[in-house]
Amino acid sequence: MQYWKKLTPQQRQTRIDEALVQNVNFATDATLGFPASRLDSKVFYEEAPFLRDAPTIRAFVANPNNIGCHTFGTSENAFYGTQEIEREVLSVLAVDVFKCKPNEFDGYISPGGTEANIQAIWVFRNYFMHNFDAKLHEIAILASEDTHYSIPKASNLLQIEWISIPVDFNSREIQKEQLDFLVSEAKNKGVKYFIAVSNLGTTMFGSVDNPNDYIEVLEKHQVSFKLHIDGAYGGFVYPFSNEKSEINFNNPKISSITIDAHKMLQAPYGTGVFICRKGLIENVLTKEAEYVEGMDLTLCGSRSGANAVAVWMILATYGPHAWFEKISILMMRTQFLTKELKSLGIEFYNCPFMNIVTIKAEFIPESIAHKYGLVPQQHNENNKWYKIVLMDHVEVEHLTNFIDELKASKND
Ligand SMILES: *Cc1c(COP(=O)(O)O)cnc(C)c1O
Repeated sequence: MQYWKKLTPQQRQTRIDEALVQNVNFATDATLGFPASRLDSKVFYEEAPFLRDAPTIRAFVANPNNIGCHTFGTSENAFYGTQEIEREVLSVLAVDVFKCKPNEFDGYISPGGTEANIQAIWVFRNYFMHNFDAKLHEIAILASEDTHYSIPKASNLLQIEWISIPVDFNSREIQKEQLDFLVSEAKNKGVKYFIAVSNLGTTMFGSVDNPNDYIEVLEKHQVSFKLHIDGAYGGFVYPFSNEKSEINFNNPKISSITIDAHKMLQAPYGTGVFICRKGLIENVLTKEAEYVEGMDLTLCGSRSGANAVAVWMILATYGPHAWFEKISILMMRTQFLTKELKSLGIEFYNCPFMNIVTIKAEFIPESIAHKYGLVPQQHNENNKWYKIVLMDHVEVEHLTNFIDELKASKND
């Protein structure tokens, strides 16, 4: 770990204080040109005593705007301090967790995984348009049927087709022959450029696609492609639960990754992370964004610098070892649950490196699913699966109660 360090509360506070001093201070500096200020002082008063020891909330009240992309070119100098915090967060994720070389990536903290996925597909779509003069109908997205709905959203917005790849009902693995067939069918229809989205933990199953399935099939067909990893859910789990993970930038074919800090990391909403290799993000440069220094390479525009501080604080509070321990505990709870389900003869899907257990609906009485807030795959009578996500607040005690009720219902 080159960037990810565990820091003491005092060290964290000092670092965030330093960052806030490097930003413009709306309360004291003469700043006349920004359509922004600190948060409304009638509601968010700066003098509240608890703020002194609460760097994240102080950053929130200071209300920095991390607009733009801060790994590339120049940036708005009014928010240098929190941009620097954001660069540190991105370095931890890109380099320490996902094995990129230092300074060989671009990225930003986006409103969420949805935007990070759309950003990736936007970058690659434009890459094919700029470099190969590709037309919209010549570009297609490939992603499994278990893919998050942000991908069909991206398909609709960016006006390129999404080809949904079927998965096996029980293993949730991509059906590789189907992938092969659908790629050749698309080629016959004139598609020349592919954007593959490989899941690092699907939302419903926690299933992890093998990115090599896409690479092998697309290379066999000798077509140009770009590969994005959707680790919105699994990005803070899988690299820690599977130390042999190869789903990272060591694989030269992987161009970009989405990781949500507002899921497993328990950061505030608004902390999706987009990271891509250098040389790609320029494809979405909006030159017209002239009032933003360094112009804009992101989809969203204004975004809170306090979110970067929040993610930084969580990472620096744990450090890599305590984070690994936290994930290990969640994996133990997952194993406890799967063992109990097995002994009851209840069928389920669980990727052994992920903390999601998805149970076949026929084994769960609806009343129990409802009582324990299990999430159905479909909110209608065709539902075939219910999922349990072993988050921080889901403790063995809750699981035991759930299992006991399942047992009792079987005996009825
Ligand atoms: C949650 C999720 C997303 C979307 O993230 P938001 O932060 O809700 O926009 C994308 N992909 C996967 C796999 C997810 O689990």
